[in-house]
Amino acid sequence: MSANINCDCGACGFEIASREPCLSLLCGCVDCRQALEWCAKKGAVRPVSLPELIYVKSDIIAVNGIQFIRAFQLRPEARSTRLYCKKCFSIIGVDHKSYKNNVFMFFKNHCSTTCDLSLNPSAAIYLKDLEETDEINKLKSIPLIYTFSEAEFRLFRSIEAVSKSFSDTNRPRSGQNLKSVIQSLGEIEILN
Ligand SMILES: [Zn+2]
Ligand SMILES: [Zn+2]
Repeated sequence: MSANINCDCGACGFEIASREPCLSLLCGCVDCRQALEWCAKKGAVRPVSLPELIYVKSDIIAVNGIQFIRAFQLRPEARSTRLYCKKCFSIIGVDHKSYKNNVFMFFKNHCSTTCDLSLNPSAAIYLKDLEETDEINKLKSIPLIYTFSEAEFRLFRSIEAVSKSFSDTNRPRSGQNLKSVIQSLGEIEILN
């Protein structure tokens, strides 16, 4: 069954082929925080300290309101490209080189979606960047990744949902991937 990921004002969004996410992670990294705070300054929802990242198959059947979608990167040569609505500044999709066009990510509670959001986070990542360290004590039963040291990286990749998500696509797609949507948008805005 397909699902929608829309910005909060409804001007733009995607229809994706499957409503079942592949993976959920909690992320404490500086980049997620900077990106969400930039959007919040322009009127979008304020981020929590450990935002939840939802990964879905990068299989986009339809793009709605493409004239309202813009792409930004935090700095030149950034590995992440984030797509937002230029009216309400919701982030509707994020591409990262490590996603290999198999999946893309969106932030739970920073857009509106009909995806099934019942999946529990598989890990919490980049905890060394987290300022509110008491948040970590609330996370008891999932792998905690602080720095992606060699051992932590091995632990992370041993999570089945992680290794399946961040791998080359080997299944037929019904639509286009997020990267091809980004390419159709024209120039990427560089914030810093
Ligand atoms: Zn919007
Ligand atoms: Zn992050």
